[in-house]
Amino acid sequence: MQIKLASNLMYDSIVDGLGLRIVIWTQGCSHNCFKCHNPQTHDFSKGKFYDIDEIVDKIVKYPLKSGVTLSGGDPFFQKEETLYLVKKLKENKINIWAYTGFIYEDLIKDPVWLETLKYIDILVDGPFIYDQYDPLLKFRGSKNQRIIDVQKSLKTNEVIEMPL
Ligand code: SF4
Repeated sequence: MQIKLASNLMYDSIVDGLGLRIVIWTQGCSHNCFKCHNPQTHDFSKGKFYDIDEIVDKIVKYPLKSGVTLSGGDPFFQKEETLYLVKKLKENKINIWAYTGFIYEDLIKDPVWLETLKYIDILVDGPFIYDQYDPLLKFRGSKNQRIIDVQKSLKTNEVIEMPL
């Protein structure tokens, strides 16, 4: 299976989650947040297809990493592809963070998104809201965005945010 990405993998990021992370920039987003930092990733007709098994293989072989972060774009628009990707990453015991412009409460209503969340460790949810922008926030742009411990939240049926 292939997934559409805005660019190749980015290695050694320290701003897209805890530790040293490999970032996967998915292509396509229609949330249209005012002053989005990655407008080049919005157009669903742009980007390039990459084989998911090859991506996972590269990631597994890269020695220095704390985990993988899915960003974009919004990975949740490529539903089946992102589900396949997170399943494969988790089979290899890789820690997964994902950024989305959707909110957690909406994602859990959709069966494919819910299944996807079962493989994700941390979800940074919600659109970027410029009025709530704060440059001092860690791993997110605006105050409305939450850093959610997905597995604890799914287990308890309430949103549990990760203490930073
Ligand atoms: S969800 Fe993210 S990529 Fe999409 S418009 Fe908002 S900030 Fe930009």
